[in-house]
Amino acid sequence: MKIDATELPATEITCSTCHACCCRLEVLLISDTGVPERHITHNDWGASVMTRLEDGWCSALNRNTMMCSIYENRPWICREFEMGSDECIAEREEHM
Ligand code: SF4
Ligand code: SF4
Repeated sequence: MKIDATELPATEITCSTCHACCCRLEVLLISDTGVPERHITHNDWGASVMTRLEDGWCSALNRNTMMCSIYENRPWICREFEMGSDECIAEREEHM
């Protein structure tokens, strides 16, 4: 039986079956977690944000593994982004 991905329980949604969908969102740097300067830029309002490349993905995303290359130093917002949350599901629906 074909099951629509949107009907999967949140427990069946994992980052390992994703394509780093949430790593295309704008990530504000609201605390110092040691993000390397090369991945930091400033948005139109002067706030520090993670740099995103032309295709929208965060510059810290390892394109070979599709995992965060600065995991130990990832921003607070990335730490708080919950797998299986409404925001996670929304990103998956938009990009997968
Ligand atoms: S948190 Fe959600 S959107 Fe982000 S990589 Fe994991 S499954 Fe994908
Ligand atoms: S810092 Fe890491 S977890 Fe956060 S958006 Fe960039 S690649 Fe994704």
